[in-house]
Amino acid sequence: MNEELWRKEFSFDDFSPPFPCPRCSSKLRLRKDTLKVLETGYSKAARATPDWEPDWSTQRFVCFLECGNNSCTEIIAVSGETGTQEKFIKEVNTWGMVSTLLPKSLFPAPPIIAVSKKLSDVTSTHLWASFGLFWSDEASAANRLRVAVESLLDDLNIPKTTINTKKKRVPLSLASRIDKLEAKKKGHKDALDALRWIGNHASHSGMTSTEVLLAGFELFEGVVAELIDKKSAAKAAMAKLLIKSKGKTKSSST
Ligand SMILES: [Zn+2]
Repeated sequence: MNEELWRKEFSFDDFSPPFPCPRCSSKLRLRKDTLKVLETGYSKAARATPDWEPDWSTQRFVCFLECGNNSCTEIIAVSGETGTQEKFIKEVNTWGMVSTLLPKSLFPAPPIIAVSKKLSDVTSTHLWASFGLFWSDEASAANRLRVAVESLLDDLNIPKTTINTKKKRVPLSLASRIDKLEAKKKGHKDALDALRWIGNHASHSGMTSTEVLLAGFELFEGVVAELIDKKSAAKAAMAKLLIKSKGKTKSSST
């Protein structure tokens, strides 16, 4: 994952982050004519204050990103607020304040990780919702990612309930369900437990960090690659096939 791409603050003069298109994964680009910034009235009024500083201003922005793939033409609506950042300005050879854009909403949201076509619709829906929440509320995004983990376990046929000692059917905790998966298919307990903790912490404290959330997305992607897309198994099968055919494929055997 390119963490630098999934920042929350972008240079105003160069806002065209190459996010992947939610529809076709091609790179998105800014429709320059659509970037509009408006300053609030109370912010304009504050400029009359003698000790006014640029970082006092309150501005909102909107713009559209479009897919660079001409056969797709997806459009993403972006909105947020502006910020200021101290930066070395080459032209004047000194440090100064520059304007930045802080997006708070992207719709439809770009995929932060690959979404396997083999996931169930329910799991995909939770994952896509999490991508959208990433911009507006990271704790909710972490929580929705935890719901996606529960749904992934459903997709893998891990039971949701058990019979307790009083012979009563009771729900299984996510921790127990992860243990059941580990007993069936080893090697994913740590990643899934980490996702469970990321979600739990976000639910209880209402907080998480961009870094932790991005790490969570990456863990989820790794688990799906192995358990749903079976990438290692596919690679091993391909290696076996190539050994059997002594390195020849159908197209190279003639
Ligand atoms: Zn596209």
